[in-house]
Amino acid sequence: MDTNWMARGNCATRPPDTFFPSDGVGVEIAKRICEGCPVQEPCLEYALHHRIDHGVWGGCSERQRRRILRARRLATAA
Ligand code: SF4
Repeated sequence: MDTNWMARGNCATRPPDTFFPSDGVGVEIAKRICEGCPVQEPCLEYALHHRIDHGVWGGCSERQRRRILRARRLATAA
């Protein structure tokens, strides 16, 4: 899977731990940085494809990614 998009993300110049917050406030801060990121879509798809269960990726928290994966599984099964 192509990962060249990573260098173009809004987070490229931020400390990585910003995107692995320990509380809800930190999650919201990270998600705000993701807003308007030019590579939000490939970032989210990368995290979903690799089942990454920690951190904020593509503007989505761990919980949001679990919901997306569940919805996709249900859509595929239908
Ligand atoms: S969507 Fe967020 S985590 Fe992904 S590359 Fe952009 S800023 Fe970084």
